[in-house]
Amino acid sequence: MSHTRKLNIRKRVALVAHDNKKKDLIEWAIYNKTVLSKHELIATGTTGKLLEEELDRPVKKVFSGPLGGDQQIGALIAEGKLDLLIFFWDPMEAQPHDSDVKALLRLAVAWNILMACNRTTADFILTSVLMRDEYTIDIPDYSGYLTRKLSP
Ligand code: PGA
Repeated sequence: MSHTRKLNIRKRVALVAHDNKKKDLIEWAIYNKTVLSKHELIATGTTGKLLEEELDRPVKKVFSGPLGGDQQIGALIAEGKLDLLIFFWDPMEAQPHDSDVKALLRLAVAWNILMACNRTTADFILTSVLMRDEYTIDIPDYSGYLTRKLSP
């Protein structure tokens, strides 16, 4: 049996951008400032600082991505405390925290949350009518995994 989780109208949105993608994310956020003002923003440290300056609004900041911030965002996803992940990762450069990047992408899929990794998808998500309403997401059923037989 699968579980569900209700997303409120005011959604919890995490924003993360690698250094080469920060300009892109900030531009996107400024362009969408009005829509974003209806939602709660959470970001990795450096991305969050830039967003606060440019949007002139408070943004909840976790640690910088490579210092544990990606994992903090991942923990929020696992705890059901995040609705949308805007993650502009850099496809052209390996990151010192590539393992964390992979873990974050994996958790977003594992918990079936909304995720955009580029501007086009982010635009489509933000302009969806579903963003302006409550929405129920299915949480995959992991009970089989949790009750799996392990040899002693
Ligand atoms: P930063 O982290 O916003 O602190 O630069 C981004 C990332 O996760 O790489």
